[in-house]
Amino acid sequence: MALIVQKFGGTSVADADRIREVADQVARNVRHGNQVILVISAMGKETDELLRLAGDVARLRPGREMDMLITAGERKAIALVAMALADKGLDAVSFTGSQIGFITDTNHMNAKILEVRPERLREALERGQVPVVAGAQGVSTDRDVTFLGRGGSDTTAVAIAHVMAADVCELYTDVSGVYSADPRLVPGARRMAEVTFDELLEMTATGCPKPAMRSVEFARSYGVTLHVRSAFTWEPGTWVREETRESAVEEASVIAVTHDTSDAKVTVERVADHPGVAASLFRRLAERGVNVDMIVQNVSLSGHTDISFTVPQDSFAESLATCRSMLGDLGAKDVTGDEAVGKVSIVGSGMKSDPGVAARMFEALGAAGVNIEMISTSPIRTSCVVRRDQVETAVQVLHQAFDLDA
Ligand code: ADP
Ligand code: ASP
Ligand code: MG
Repeated sequence: MALIVQKFGGTSVADADRIREVADQVARNVRHGNQVILVISAMGKETDELLRLAGDVARLRPGREMDMLITAGERKAIALVAMALADKGLDAVSFTGSQIGFITDTNHMNAKILEVRPERLREALERGQVPVVAGAQGVSTDRDVTFLGRGGSDTTAVAIAHVMAADVCELYTDVSGVYSADPRLVPGARRMAEVTFDELLEMTATGCPKPAMRSVEFARSYGVTLHVRSAFTWEPGTWVREETRESAVEEASVIAVTHDTSDAKVTVERVADHPGVAASLFRRLAERGVNVDMIVQNVSLSGHTDISFTVPQDSFAESLATCRSMLGDLGAKDVTGDEAVGKVSIVGSGMKSDPGVAARMFEALGAAGVNIEMISTSPIRTSCVVRRDQVETAVQVLHQAFDLDA
């Protein structure tokens, strides 16, 4: 008998038909003799809808009330799933994050899990019940309801799989696994049978939306095996684990192309080129909560240099204002912003020992007329900032250049 944590995302439980289908599948699993713990997200686009409503009623969005509001989406979904399971003859019981012992910090809208006390989960399993847990929520050390952030249900599922020592954590979504590129941009993208934690982390850090990056970090830290798969076709998906692939001998150096269009670029022109300048700029940005991604500093000419960096779009205005307020301190001439950028990346652990990879990437982009504005690398990833309207082309030519088509 295996203990399986199964997480169903928004699309998997979007309406009554979908909920009944999920219940059917769970019932089949339980009859095969498996113990199952379910983690459920809000139905369809409900989280977006609740966020929109909040914006419509008020300009102020107190964190405590926002979390109370958003977590209602998951609460509704768990009750409906538990009812559908009961209808299939299963003894199911729903739990909120607080009932299931998810203790978090007090950082509303993006709370961190401090501890999980799964007594009620254990008791339910011992009674032969199927626990149905609300994803992405907990209770803070101040006893308020907290939301773990967008995509937090993946993290809830991984945390439960860890504390309950489950055999596997299955993350169900609307595609049948992790693909060699976003299947919406590349129809020939290939489903990967397996991927390592390191590779998947680089993929999620550079724009692959599934699974949520925090959950992958958590799973890697605690050695939780992940299986990303479809709640529509129910076929086997992508396994994520530590071991290297069996096909290591003939391993391709690049396994996936990812993209991200959520960043913007800031350039500080003619900054004084002496020690401490970059430090004071990026310290100030950090103090204002700006999460800087790529940074490029040009070669110094006559004691001055340009510094460009990318930031999430929601931090763009704040970043520009911060830089502008520091022009004097930095001895800089001007600051400019550019929102029409995007990032494309190639990922693969085989890149470490394949010196030609970056050149091949740049050649493919050059041949397609895509200009590279910034470059950054890790041992298993190379990323380029390009014009946003060329991202789709860039992803497609790179997918082809590295022979990733199915
Ligand atoms: P859910 O709503 O199930 O939590 P999301 O809608 O956030 O999931 O993410 C799933 C979507 O991510 C898929 O429909 C797919 O189009 C997109 N996607 C982008 N890149 C990839 C990739 N490399 N592999 C798989 N899916 C990807
Ligand atoms: N429903 C929340 C969101 O859309 C949490 C989750 O689905 O993981 O972000
Ligand atoms: Mg979705």
